[in-house]
Amino acid sequence: MPFKAGRLVGKTVKFGIDTFTRLIAVIAYFIKNIPKHIDTLKGWIDEFIESLAKITRVFSDDVYKLYEKLGITIKKVPQQPVLASGIPVPVGDNLYALVKEGKEVFRGSKIEVEELAEKLKGLDDAEAKKYLDELRSRQIPFHRVYEKGYVYDKPIIPALDEVKILYGDKGVELYNTVTRQVRNFRKKSKFKNSLRDVVLVAGVTSKKYVKDIVMHTNFSNKKLNKFLSKSGINRQTSKLGDVKKVYKYMLSEGHIKYDIHPFLENRLKLHFEKIGEFHNGVKHSSNYSWRQTGDLPGIHAEVLSMNELLWRIEAKGYKISDELLKEFIGFNRNLLRNRVMIRCGDCNFMTHGIEFIEKFI
Ligand SMILES: [Zn+2]
Repeated sequence: MPFKAGRLVGKTVKFGIDTFTRLIAVIAYFIKNIPKHIDTLKGWIDEFIESLAKITRVFSDDVYKLYEKLGITIKKVPQQPVLASGIPVPVGDNLYALVKEGKEVFRGSKIEVEELAEKLKGLDDAEAKKYLDELRSRQIPFHRVYEKGYVYDKPIIPALDEVKILYGDKGVELYNTVTRQVRNFRKKSKFKNSLRDVVLVAGVTSKKYVKDIVMHTNFSNKKLNKFLSKSGINRQTSKLGDVKKVYKYMLSEGHIKYDIHPFLENRLKLHFEKIGEFHNGVKHSSNYSWRQTGDLPGIHAEVLSMNELLWRIEAKGYKISDELLKEFIGFNRNLLRNRVMIRCGDCNFMTHGIEFIEKFI
């Protein structure tokens, strides 16, 4: 009987038959010797629970300890139920959720949870907390980011070894490529005004889907203003159609290689609905004004780079989605000062989901 039951339980909760039969033996012994061995029994039960917990644990002790230290519990995401059509959906299979104070911070495969633990290991507690907060906000679905609004935080450039820990080798490659590009621009441009005219170098890359690192500066503000006045476009009351006109024009002038991607166009469409006609429909921190960054959403360097990368990834046969953006990395480097170029309110929403190389202190 114990063996049969052992096999049955072993199948469902995956602890070994040895453990089970041992427990049966312990209980049998206990029944015969109550209350003489009550303390011994306590010890046995503790030992049993511990070994049981070890067997059913998916991750190594290190991983559990690290998350525990940060107040995070690892939960298995339940497998999604069978659809009405009768087809089971494997989406939830082998997915784990990191839960902190009842809220999901991260969701990913076993490997992703382990990779994240690896990243967090190199950080002190405060840095790890910041990183997890960031991660949580990136995981908010796009249509809900507007409820959260925009916080104008000023990040700094992380040190190269931090970049390696936080963003991996691909992050280091992006960091170096953008940094070289900034250096080249500075060397070539004798006048600060020409650097001021294009503001930043923004690189975006993908960890999984393509090797390319796509970089853009802003459009020349001089050139853009000329086009806007010629076309009668008012920045402050701009609409999606105006942004599309800018893309078409810059495409014809050879400043970009790709027109606006439908994915970006959809984000922009929602963005215009949310911000309202006078660009004040979305809450933001008091240290920011929509007016300060030019009012014409969707045309800054980081969005141009993201847009081009979307086309390139799609050309390889992948479907573009919010999910896919979560494995992008971006890096915005100011051309005039040795700083991260902060993403403005508009770009913040357009690039939602992308992990940018930046550090908040
Ligand atoms: Zn921007």
